[in-house]
Amino acid sequence: MGRTKSAAIECPQCGNKTFKLSAEKHAKGEFDGAVCIDCGRVISEDDIRAKAIDVAENEIRSMASRILGDVFKKRS
Ligand SMILES: [Zn+2]
Repeated sequence: MGRTKSAAIECPQCGNKTFKLSAEKHAKGEFDGAVCIDCGRVISEDDIRAKAIDVAENEIRSMASRILGDVFKKRS
């Protein structure tokens, strides 16, 4: 029986964050092949990669706004 895990990824189809994953994959911390317990969509490596890019972009954006915020504070 597979395990479920709350992942850092969301189902691209329904936004659910709980997936069924084989114990082997779970142990490795891998999410490809995970199955959404809500709609049954299988998460592919591409989905994970796309999500990783999303996360990286958000990080960069929040970092940039912090830096820019500091600059504007100094100027005013
Ligand atoms: Zn889903």
